[in-house]
Parts: sequence; C-alpha cells; structure tokens
Amino acid sequence: MIVAIDGPAGAGKSTVARALAGRLGYRYLDTGAMYRALAWLALNRGVASADAEALGALARAHQVELGLGGAVAIAGSDVTAAIRTPEVDRVVSAVSAHPQVREVMRARQRELSLVVDCVMEGRDIGTVVAPQAELKVYLVADPDERVRRRLAQRPEASAAELLARDAGDAERMQPAADAVQLDTTGLSIDEVIDRIESLLRERAA
Ligand code: C5P
Repeated sequence: MIVAIDGPAGAGKSTVARALAGRLGYRYLDTGAMYRALAWLALNRGVASADAEALGALARAHQVELGLGGAVAIAGSDVTAAIRTPEVDRVVSAVSAHPQVREVMRARQRELSLVVDCVMEGRDIGTVVAPQAELKVYLVADPDERVRRRLAQRPEASAAELLARDAGDAERMQPAADAVQLDTTGLSIDEVIDRIESLLRERAA
C-alpha cells in the first residue's frame, strides 16, 4: 500500500506524512531528503548545481540511505541535520531539476516503495514515482501560512528562498489528476491526518 503526499514547501507534508506513517505503522519515505542529500554532497565536493552530467554521476555513485528513524546518509556521512540548512535550501531545486538526477532518484524511490507499505512524500510521487498509489493527497496552504510554518520550524530559513524554490519546483509540482487536494491553511496537524485517514477508510470500503 502506498500513500502519496505531494505539494509545495511548507504545506505540511513532512509533519503530516511522518505522523500518518506512525499511526498506520507504515514506512515514511521522504524523497525531498534524498534530493537534499545529493545537493549537500554536490556542495561538499564543489560540483556546480548546473552540471547535470556530474550530478547524475554523483547520484549514481552514492546511494542515499534513509534510516528507519529518519536519519539520512550519503557517501559515508550522516547528513540528517546538514541537509536542512539555507545553503542546501538555495541549491536543491536546481540540483533536482536535472533529468540525469531524477532518473537515479526515482528508480531508487520506486525500489523502496515496492518492498513495504509506505507513506511517500515529495513533489512527483502521485504523478511519476508511484502513479499506482492507492491514495494520493496533494497538500496546499496559503503562501503566508507556508512561510510562517517554515520560519517556526527553522528560524534561519528565508521567506524569499522558500517562494523562489517553489517557483523553481512549480513545473514538477502538478497534482495528479486523481489526487485529493487538501488545503491545510488553518487546520491542525491532527485534523489533516484525520481527514487523510478517513479518505483511506473510504478507499478500503
Ligand atoms: O520536500 P523538501 O522541501 O525537503 O524538498 C527539497 C527539494 O527537493 C524541493 O524543493 C524540490 O526541488 C526537490 N524535490 C523534488 N522531487 C521530490 C521531492 C523533492 O524535486 N519528489
């Protein structure tokens, strides 16, 4: 069983997907963390975010490891904290835009999603990575609310960066035709999760 949670930055995807996976006893797969880990490695190795071939080669050579407890590792380094920095925020959209990078990441994401029941979070899960997902949810929220949430989580983050990243991501942020859109503005995390759980119950029935 795959539950796909897509949507823009700050719509509540991570918090909701992680908690939902916990409630259901499913694996939580954060695909954004995989792109962030590659962006971190590129910064670390001095690979330019415009160098599609070098980034593709880097992705092929270094598989991102997602630990069950949420740890993220690449090339022998634990990057769980290092991938949530303004430096990575700034380059991740450009790094992840290259088809050479997406091909490697998507193959790995499909592989992971096929072995266990999971809640997968990203931008293109319902459309490309797992179009067969039993439930697809596309979370949205007002831009002001998304910025407010991001700054509450990460005070060093920048509102301008978040909106610029969204603009860069917009091309691959289309909701799947069969996704259920959920506006999380003004909803608590528990309310969002309750709604998704009731959608799951409806599907199961
Ligand atoms: O989800 P998060 O905001 O951590 O993702 C970081 C970046 O990774 C996004 O801004 C986007 O550029 C990229 N991404 C992607 N496809 C995904 C998940 C994330 O391109 N499935």
